[in-house]
Amino acid sequence: MNEPINKVSVVIPVYNEQDSLPALINRTVTACESLSLAYEILLVDDGSTDESADLLQQAAEAPGSHIVAVILNRNYGQHSAIMAGFSHVSGDLIITLDADLQNPPEEIPRLVATAQQNYDVVGTVRQNRQDSGFRKIASRILNHLIQRATGKPMGDYGCMLRAYRRPVIEAILNCHERSTFIPILANTFARRTIDIPVLHAEREFGDSKYSLMRLVNLMFDLVTCLTTTPLRMLSVFGCVTAVCGFALALLLVTLRLFLGPEWSADGVFMLFAVLFMFIGAQFVGMGLLGEYIGRIYTDVRARPRYFIQRVVKSSTPSMTQGEKV
Ligand code: UDP
Ligand code: MG
Repeated sequence: MNEPINKVSVVIPVYNEQDSLPALINRTVTACESLSLAYEILLVDDGSTDESADLLQQAAEAPGSHIVAVILNRNYGQHSAIMAGFSHVSGDLIITLDADLQNPPEEIPRLVATAQQNYDVVGTVRQNRQDSGFRKIASRILNHLIQRATGKPMGDYGCMLRAYRRPVIEAILNCHERSTFIPILANTFARRTIDIPVLHAEREFGDSKYSLMRLVNLMFDLVTCLTTTPLRMLSVFGCVTAVCGFALALLLVTLRLFLGPEWSADGVFMLFAVLFMFIGAQFVGMGLLGEYIGRIYTDVRARPRYFIQRVVKSSTPSMTQGEKV
């Protein structure tokens, strides 16, 4: 069993969202008030160039405010901003959501209620997702690949409306890597996870902060956070190429012996076969390097080897041999 939830922390990264902030703060506070639990709302300003940081400061300084403003000195990206928020949370359950109101704050009570059923991570699946067709298809392919790699049946890693128990967040904060994809990292430390369907709204103000290049970067963060398999693929590709080259060479030699020299275009085909073998060998070599780099990468990230949730011991001391008589 997990510890009971006494306090909820909501972490929201904000980057140039001045138009949606008033509604966001209002709706989030209302949703949290309905919880009948202690709560705090951490709004992390990710180096906004508009009025967002000032608005956050004002909201946090208001008397009796449950808002904590964490202001970063420049733009570090959504996931780094969320990590900065994590380092200041004090709740037992941490909820992340986007500032653009695409994730309705009204879903917070349902996330809390689900987490209370002894779940470490509560994920969400966006119903009738309001994004461009390209983003939807790309994210469906990625989600499918992640599901296969993690073996966790969670369907929508792009949706940041999620709830994490405190120990999961502590484990994440103990990872030393710089490029992180929080939902994946969280899943590597979670025992019991569940997905619930949530609503998804269209972006009302401004545009998505992700350009195509930033999306590609995010995708690489996601893949490298998840696995070093792409490095291993080099070895696999190399072996297949080398074996094919060798088989081709064998075939050509046989055909040359039976059909005569004019058939093999004066050795040009043979040259190809030899080339394939060498290319294959090169890839095998690179794959080998990849294996070492993968291990160096794992060591550099220095993720905790394990995280002890609880140590249970008998409270009555065991009797020693002498005491028994
Ligand atoms: N965001 C951020 N830093 C960035 C980019 C985005 O803190 O460099 C925040 C942004 O303010 C929003 C959330 O991350 O709260 C998601 O961004 P966006 O809505 O642009 O992404 P999308 O919904 O298109 O995936
Ligand atoms: Mg959005």
